Amino acid sequence: MTQTIFTPSPNFDDRPSQKIDHLVLHYTGMQSGAAAMERLCDPAAKVSSHYVVEEDGTVYCLVDEHKRAWHAGISHWRGVSGLNDRSVGIEIVNPGHEWGYRPFPHVQMEAVLALCTGILRRHPIPNRNVVGHSDIAPNRKQDPGELFPWAWLAANGVGLWTDDVGAIGDIAEDLAAIGYDIGLPLPMVVTAFQRHFLPGLLTGAADAMTAGRAAAVRQLTAAA
Ligand SMILES: [Zn+2]
Repeated sequence: MTQTIFTPSPNFDDRPSQKIDHLVLHYTGMQSGAAAMERLCDPAAKVSSHYVVEEDGTVYCLVDEHKRAWHAGISHWRGVSGLNDRSVGIEIVNPGHEWGYRPFPHVQMEAVLALCTGILRRHPIPNRNVVGHSDIAPNRKQDPGELFPWAWLAANGVGLWTDDVGAIGDIAEDLAAIGYDIGLPLPMVVTAFQRHFLPGLLTGAADAMTAGRAAAVRQLTAAA
């Protein structure tokens, strides 16, 4: 069992309701975990998350799950906006695309998995609502990025994954059914989808492979 260290952040407020049905995963995107922790606890920064997971697997708890942490910003998923209201947010330490994006160490992912498993046990969060920041804000965010092991997490019961390719339909319709905001430019939304569900093909192009995978993921979300 990984150790959890309580490091309270002042950056939280009350949730409008106690409905907690989304889990949002991020990378910190800063040069070090310490720098990220400092920012997430700085009242002037007005950002936070419920948890931070260091590369060595140490878990920090910054905000009580029953309070609203400020991690998602303007966001949208399956018709819901403002995901901070009803999500738990985890910041996973990684320099990110700006500072030298690198693979997530296995010991870190083991800690993330244990943390997510507990959160899914405590709250009625369906697997289709386990999302990355880039899924819910494709116009602003790239995290946790294409190196994040979504397939491995899903194989261990957290989130959804498929290697299938379904019968190609209207990709915009499929992406909307999965949860994406298709009011945004389509290449932007396709890129966000690929970053999560087809990370080897990060082109933004709605090609046959991407459309087929979107159809298959849609099938999964309908059942989840
Ligand atoms: Zn983020």
